[in-house]
Amino acid sequence: MNEHVTLLFFRSSPSRISEDYVAAALQNFETFIFLIALRRYPSALAAIAAAIESALQASSIGQKPKDGLQTLLKRALSVSAAMSQWDDVRTTAFRDLRNQITHRGFSPRDDERSILEIMKTGIPLFFEVAKEFLEFDCREGLHTEYAEHLQVAVAAYEAACAEGSAGGTFWLQALGASVRWSLKDNFQSSWELMALEGADIHGDRYLMHQEARTEIEKGFEYPWDCRCPICLQDDAAVVELDGAALDGHQVVAVLFECINCGYASKLREQLLTKQLFRHQLTPIRESILKSYGLAT
Ligand SMILES: [Zn+2]
Repeated sequence: MNEHVTLLFFRSSPSRISEDYVAAALQNFETFIFLIALRRYPSALAAIAAAIESALQASSIGQKPKDGLQTLLKRALSVSAAMSQWDDVRTTAFRDLRNQITHRGFSPRDDERSILEIMKTGIPLFFEVAKEFLEFDCREGLHTEYAEHLQVAVAAYEAACAEGSAGGTFWLQALGASVRWSLKDNFQSSWELMALEGADIHGDRYLMHQEARTEIEKGFEYPWDCRCPICLQDDAAVVELDGAALDGHQVVAVLFECINCGYASKLREQLLTKQLFRHQLTPIRESILKSYGLAT
């Protein structure tokens, strides 16, 4: 039993949080998020596999303490119709990679494979297991900004799968940057914070931001200012809109750069960028089209 469980990325917790394995499931998932922020993708895969195992060990599926992931999933399948999609075949690559990482170590060459298995199996399987056996909806329980980043990453990854182009290691990059940004203040010395305050008082920060904005806009054909999804600063993200989509009266972000946190996306990540700004751009579509003379 754990009487005083502390969670960092969750705003609510399962009702059984003090029971054995339940806290471990959520805390292993939090470790997974930290490792994503540190770009240790193979270790992140091992952490989310541990989160899945802990959640299954917390269930009532006739498990034994030494059961591994494969056995636990088989037991889960035998008692839950909701788990039927997670058969042995579907989880083989994820389990094999976890075993390889845990027992033999890893190299940067494993990064892409790890991220793709996390997107394909790790995240959806953990969410399913938490819902089914801990009666806990992770999308509801996570702090809003992290839940949104995961939702955006999954939507972008699924869109890429539908197009047959789901390669790359960037799917959780915005989530990682968001976590790193949230930790920034802990690593600033007092003189740095004072210098920032001085820059605000004298207007230096404003001027630097305006110069940065002008510089970024020069490189963009259809710029638009949005709230940055990483540092959450209003109007700090300069977004490049897709010209062909604008011609078709659609507003789609393809690139962005933030004048505040410095995050800059790349063209190959455009499916992720599209999802990151979809909820901001869609409601103001008419005003964007008007400002570019494409609507009256
Ligand atoms: Zn930013």
